Amino acid sequence: MANNEDALRAMQNCFHSQFSVDEAEYEDIEENRRTSVDEDSIYLGCTLSRSFNPEDSPVIKMGWLHKTPPQGTLVFQKRWVMLDAQFLRYFQNEKGVYSKRIIAILSVTEVLNVGGQKFEVVTRNRTFLFRAENNTVREEWVSVLKETIQQRCNSMEMSLMNFSDTSGQRASRVSLISKQGYLEMSGLRSKLYVVICANSVFLYRNAEEHSQGVGITSIEMNLGTVKGTDKRSFNLTTFYRTFSFVAESEQQREQWVEALQACVSHSLSSNAVAQKIWSEEANQRCADCGAPHPDWASVNLCVVLCKCCAGVHRGLGQSVSKVRSLKMDEKVWTENQLFLLLGNDKVNLFWAANIPPSEMLCTSSDSEERKRFVTAKYCQGKYRRYHALFGQQEALNKALCNTIQTGDVLETLSLVFCGADVNCYTGDPELPSPVSIAQHYGQTLQVEFLTHNHNTELPGSRAGDHTILEAALPISHTGYLFKTASSTRAVTERKSKGDFSRRWCSLNQGNFSYYESEKSSSQSGQMKMSDVLCLVVNPQGKHGYGHSFELYHDSGRVYLFGEDSPDTVREWIKAIGKALVPPVAEDLVGWSFERVGRLRYTAGQSFHCPCLGWFSLGGSRLLLLLHGEDHADNIDLRKLQELSVEQEAAAVVLVDRGRRLRLEGDRRPDFQGWLSGIQQGLGRGDGPLDQQQLTETEVPVIVDCCISYITQHGLKSEGIYRRSGVNSKIAALLFSLRHDPRQVRLSEGERQVDNVANVLKRFLREVGEGVFNGHQASLPWLHTTTVSERRERVSQYKALLHSLPLVNRATLGAVINHLYCVQCFADENQMNMHNLAIVFGPTLFQTDGTDNSAGQVVEELIQNYQDIFNVNAEQLQKQLDMISHVIKAQEEHTEEGTPSPLTICGVYLERKEEGSELLVQISQAVSAEELVCEVLRRGNIPTQQGEYWSCFLVNDNQEMERPLHYQERALAIYFSLGKDCHLVVKRNCYMDAMLIYIAGMVDVSRNSMIKFRDEKGQRGKRTFSRRLCVLDGTSLRLYKEVKSTQPERECQVHALKVYYGIKKRLQPPSCWGMTVVCEQAERDKQQWYLCCESKNELIEWLATFMNLQHNSDLWPAASRPDS
Ligand SMILES: [Zn+2]
Repeated sequence: MANNEDALRAMQNCFHSQFSVDEAEYEDIEENRRTSVDEDSIYLGCTLSRSFNPEDSPVIKMGWLHKTPPQGTLVFQKRWVMLDAQFLRYFQNEKGVYSKRIIAILSVTEVLNVGGQKFEVVTRNRTFLFRAENNTVREEWVSVLKETIQQRCNSMEMSLMNFSDTSGQRASRVSLISKQGYLEMSGLRSKLYVVICANSVFLYRNAEEHSQGVGITSIEMNLGTVKGTDKRSFNLTTFYRTFSFVAESEQQREQWVEALQACVSHSLSSNAVAQKIWSEEANQRCADCGAPHPDWASVNLCVVLCKCCAGVHRGLGQSVSKVRSLKMDEKVWTENQLFLLLGNDKVNLFWAANIPPSEMLCTSSDSEERKRFVTAKYCQGKYRRYHALFGQQEALNKALCNTIQTGDVLETLSLVFCGADVNCYTGDPELPSPVSIAQHYGQTLQVEFLTHNHNTELPGSRAGDHTILEAALPISHTGYLFKTASSTRAVTERKSKGDFSRRWCSLNQGNFSYYESEKSSSQSGQMKMSDVLCLVVNPQGKHGYGHSFELYHDSGRVYLFGEDSPDTVREWIKAIGKALVPPVAEDLVGWSFERVGRLRYTAGQSFHCPCLGWFSLGGSRLLLLLHGEDHADNIDLRKLQELSVEQEAAAVVLVDRGRRLRLEGDRRPDFQGWLSGIQQGLGRGDGPLDQQQLTETEVPVIVDCCISYITQHGLKSEGIYRRSGVNSKIAALLFSLRHDPRQVRLSEGERQVDNVANVLKRFLREVGEGVFNGHQASLPWLHTTTVSERRERVSQYKALLHSLPLVNRATLGAVINHLYCVQCFADENQMNMHNLAIVFGPTLFQTDGTDNSAGQVVEELIQNYQDIFNVNAEQLQKQLDMISHVIKAQEEHTEEGTPSPLTICGVYLERKEEGSELLVQISQAVSAEELVCEVLRRGNIPTQQGEYWSCFLVNDNQEMERPLHYQERALAIYFSLGKDCHLVVKRNCYMDAMLIYIAGMVDVSRNSMIKFRDEKGQRGKRTFSRRLCVLDGTSLRLYKEVKSTQPERECQVHALKVYYGIKKRLQPPSCWGMTVVCEQAERDKQQWYLCCESKNELIEWLATFMNLQHNSDLWPAASRPDS
């Protein structure tokens, strides 16, 4: 105890001291402290095995070096040294998380070779001496250090740290520091100088250290939490430890907590894009007013802007400046190199070539000044550098076509904003537009620039009237409509009449405006049609006003208009539709569409350079006019071969008749609308026949799928369509087929033929309206049986067939053709025409079977199949030959080896809820890992690096769950599931931390005090009590007291099943519990509940369990392939 206190005191002194305490002593103290157990030290034996990389700056070099303390002793200390672009740090060992020293590269003045494998890192105030293993290692370090120091000027983040640079001046006037000052570390009498900078917290012994750029350590905040604990104290908890601080006053504490919390959320928000764009130095200041850290940009004007200027830009409308946030609109930036290539300075050489000093903007300019300046700069092009070809339209266009073949985007920008036409005809029918030329030459940045400017208004072109743009759009329409307040999300809830206000609306010259009344002289709102992404027609009665429509604006806002009169709304939709699409796309608005607008798309396998296309959607029909086409194409969504959604990228991929089309939305609400419209158009398994997913021949995919399965596997099966299958299997199979028939692969298995046969029957019996299109329409069919003359009956059937809707006719044809084939094999399957008719009569007519005329109809349809369905005898024979051939091949194949039977197993994705269940066919051999991959593939979830997905066994009230080890056999688990359990594939939130813990752990076993109770609890005392818990390679043992020699409980490690979580009714004392099921003896299955005091402790226990049970093999070495 005394020893601890001494060490602590020494530690405090050390922190308290200025430079009088020599560093050797400082480190020696730390060495001592490491052996004692005290939570309050600066140094904690936190371990991490991977290359530790706090500021997300790549490690340049790391390795062991010996370090000599600068003053005094000759004792060399082995240190793990790590260098990145910003800092040189050294750690106690290679697993260290928090460094012993952190030296800003910016503060290093020199790196010098000295004798005996040694080298010095010199800063202004002190020199660090290192010794390498040998001269080669030393040379490596010295040269890499020198290189890094030379490149430090490029290191943006450094200059923002506000360290003094080598000349002693502030490196930058710009600072990322949000708060700095002295804080007490709880338990230490002395104070530390703490600096919150960007995403990290830096600890220094004092302010001078800070200014010299030499500190103790940095704390990465992206995993941090901050919590006030007392009036003046607060905790900063990271993944590795808790730092307890005491501020000078309550008010100070508030400020620190606030600043730290901001730091946490800042570091969590996507800063990557901003950092990248700022790495071009010219982008560190607003292009218009010069304010630091501009985190907005205009993507078409190619300037990086501060918040104030961005607001002004936004006010000009999307057709002038497309404003995006560097921090929030991450999607826009994923591939964006444009801003790195150009940069504010270069772009301003064009935009701001001639600004009179009196008109210059500065950071303190007010919004009026900004507005005047920004309008003059970009709308009027008042300060721009005029291109030599200005005013010569043809020459400009020609120059544009040449420039976009090169990488000179700046020249393109200058041409475009001096009048070159982005959409001009190039004269080459193969590459008709500038965009297509740029694509052809692989100039992706040019494509990006052109795409952003495909519909922008050019400076100067609007000086007088709007003739240039609107010449092609002579549509005008006026009248009263009712309008709700615009919103940033899709309008999902019903709006009552009270939510609407009456507005006088006017569509004129490509502008849609609305006014308080007909007499108002100033409009209350206006949007340019070129900024409208999409027009959506709502179903009748969706809102208080019976007929309504929505406009999705490029700014992300959604506008809702309504009226009671269907005619009024129809007229508006017609006018707006026409004003929205280009004249060549007029087909798109000439029908009763639900949604029309533009989307970016790529066709085929190309992933680059999306083009702009126009689309309209209604029901299952998607009309599209792709770039460069002159007429609209048509996709029947029910016949799509594939649909996959890339939710992250806001993209959807359609495969239609072998053609792949990837559509991308610019704005989330707009994209979601398209996506759900397309998904609804796909066909629903619970709808009538014509709403099913269809094959090319108009037959529901379900029917087609079952028929081809029976044709392959069941034609020789005795009693086919007569025998019953396994009811639960049939239900599950039908469910998955109804959900998405194209995803289902019917595989062989015991009695699978009968299951599939029953699925087909059940589908036909249950499908809405039936094959004969409703009860009424089916009566004439049944009545035909009373006609005596056969030929007369056949011609009546023919007429009735002809009167059926297309899909019904095709379906009936497919079924009867199939039955015809089945009875051809009656010798083997014993199902002749009559037998089949008995089964299929009531099925197809959806009757109870008491009336045998249904059977008669079906029998006659089979009998006269060729006549009624007009089938060529030769064709039919060909089909039968083909079938015989397939069956023969099938039989030969089966003799070769029996494939393992497959079972359909229901697994939930992410959580158990309606619609999240996926039915997956798996064999005995499938591992949990393979199951996870399959489920993710089916759910269209791309796995990302650092994401850990596991299959969990979850109990129904979701209080406890066990992640399956990746090698566990999934089917065995599935079969063993109790009624109240299910399987869920979801992220394993502890895995990352567990892997880190295991990689750094020294001892594979673990023992510590833990709160425990068992199933029964102590009689009358249903509480948890403390036990010493020991877990090693052989068993888990619980001891009543530390001194106990006999364990109270014991269970072999291999007989344990460990679940995350404890049932709530057991009242666990914390939320970090685990349930350990001990299955040592079949009859003696026990559940023990262990409760930890912190998340870290829980993770460590879980990791220890997993590690022992699976011989350190927690996760597959190779990452999952992208599906
Ligand atoms: Zn600005």
